[in-house]
Amino acid sequence: MSELIFEKSKKGKTGFSLPELDVPQTPPPFEVRQEIGLPEVSEPEVVRHFTLLSQKNYSVDTGFYPLGSCTMKYNPKINEDLARMKEFALLHPEQPEGTLQGALELLYHLERYLAEITGMSRFTFQPAAGAHGELTGLLLIRAYMDERGEKKDTVLIPDSAHGTNPASAALTGCQVIEVKSDQRGGVDLEDLKSKLSPKVMALMLTNPNTLGLFDENILEVSRLVHEAGGLLYYDGANLNGICGYVRPGDTGFDVVHLNLHKTFSAPHGGGGPGAGPVGVKEALVPYLPVPTVERNPEGKFYLQWERPKSIGMVRSFLGNFLVALKAYAYILTMGGEGLKRMTEDAVLNANYLLHLLRGHYQLPYDRICKHEFVLSTSPLKEYNLKVTDVAKRLLDYGFHAPTIAFPLIVEGALMIEPTETESKETLEAFARALIQIEEEARTNPELLREAPHNTPVRRIDEVAANRNPILKK
Ligand SMILES: *Cc1c(COP(=O)(O)O)cnc(C)c1O
Repeated sequence: MSELIFEKSKKGKTGFSLPELDVPQTPPPFEVRQEIGLPEVSEPEVVRHFTLLSQKNYSVDTGFYPLGSCTMKYNPKINEDLARMKEFALLHPEQPEGTLQGALELLYHLERYLAEITGMSRFTFQPAAGAHGELTGLLLIRAYMDERGEKKDTVLIPDSAHGTNPASAALTGCQVIEVKSDQRGGVDLEDLKSKLSPKVMALMLTNPNTLGLFDENILEVSRLVHEAGGLLYYDGANLNGICGYVRPGDTGFDVVHLNLHKTFSAPHGGGGPGAGPVGVKEALVPYLPVPTVERNPEGKFYLQWERPKSIGMVRSFLGNFLVALKAYAYILTMGGEGLKRMTEDAVLNANYLLHLLRGHYQLPYDRICKHEFVLSTSPLKEYNLKVTDVAKRLLDYGFHAPTIAFPLIVEGALMIEPTETESKETLEAFARALIQIEEEARTNPELLREAPHNTPVRRIDEVAANRNPILKK
C-alpha cells in the first residue's frame, strides 16, 4: 500500500463530475488545481488512503496507553459532543457580554469547582497548557514578591521534576537549583535546608511526584520554604493520584496549575488544544491575568478588566474555552463522589499493575504508589539491552509503550500510568506482555534489539529524524 497520495495520482482522475456549465466559468478551477499540483485521484481512493492512514495510528480509542505522567485515559465521548454544539463552538469572544452569559456562567462555576478541588481561592483559564500554567504561576509569584520589594531570583526544583518545571523557571529569568530526592523518593529535607536562602522565590513540586509517590514530609517541606520567605508552586498536571482526597492548598501550596487535558476529560496528544488553568491563594488573587469572570449583585456575569496589579494577559481572551467546557461537563457528571472514585481506581490500577510486575523488573522505590510507578530496566544492560528495546518490543504486543528514560533519577526508567479507565483484564494482558519481554531479553535479546517487527514503520533513527526532519515530500 503506497504511503503517499501523490503516488496514486493519475492525470485527469477526479473525485467528482459536474454538469456542463451554462454560465461563463470564472475563475477556472482546474487551473488552480494544476498550479498547486494536487494529486488527481478518485473519491474512493481518497477515502481509502486516509482511512488506512488513520488505522495505522495508535490511540487511546484503539488500545492501552500507559504513558506515565501523561494521564492518557479514555475520555467520555459525550463531552466531545457537548464541545461541538454550535451554541458553544460558534461563540465569538468579541460578542457583547449580554450574549455570552451562559459561557461566562460556566467558567464562573468551573472556577469555583477547581478552587474547591485544589483548596485555592481563584483560578485563571488563560494558560493553554501545563507548561504555560507554570510560567503564568511563576510570573504571579514574581509579581507578588516584587510588590513586597523582595529581590528573589531562585527557584528550587527536585531532581524528579517534569522537564517543563526548570524550563518555565528559566523563562522567567530565575536561577534553577536542583533539590535531591531521598531514599523514599521524596524531597531530601537536609538537601532542601542547605539550598534554602532569602533568594529563593519558590519551590516547584509535583506531589505525588513523577515516581508516583506522595511526599510524606510535605507539611515540613512547606513549613521550611515559607519560613525562608518563599512560596510553594504545585505542579498539578496529574491530579488522578489525589483528587478528592488531598487538596494542595491544604498542604501549604500557594499556586497550582492543573492540566485539564490530563485529569479532566480533554484528550491530548496530537498537539492539543489543552488548558492549564492556574489557581492561587487569596494573597495572589490581585495579580491574576485579566480579564476575570465576575458576577454582579443582579446575577449578571461580566468580564473584569480593571485589575491594576494584574500581570496582564498570557493568552488571548479566556483561554481554550471548549476545553474548559469538557472539564465542566466531566466534573458535573462525576460529582464529588465520582471524582473520588476516579482517584481510587487510578491508584488501585497502578498498585495492581505494580503488584503483577514486582519481581520481574527492578523497582527502585518499593512503596505503595499513587497514579503511577517507575520500574528500572538497568539489569538488562547485562544483555546489552536498553529501555528503548523493551519499549519497542511492547509495540509488537499491541501496546503503546510507557514513558521511558524519565524521571532521570532512575536509570532505564519505565514509567507506567494505567489510569482509572482500564479493566483488570487489560492490566493483566499488559503485565503478561512485559513479563514475557523480560524473559525474551534473557533468552533472545536480538528479538528486542530488532523490535518492533509488526508495526507499519520499523525502528526509526530518532536522532536523524530530529536533526534532519523531512516534513514534506
Ligand atoms: C504533562 C506535564 C506537564 C506539562 O504539561 P503540558 O500541557 O504538556 O505543557 C508538567 N508537569 C507534569 C508533571 C506533567 O505530567
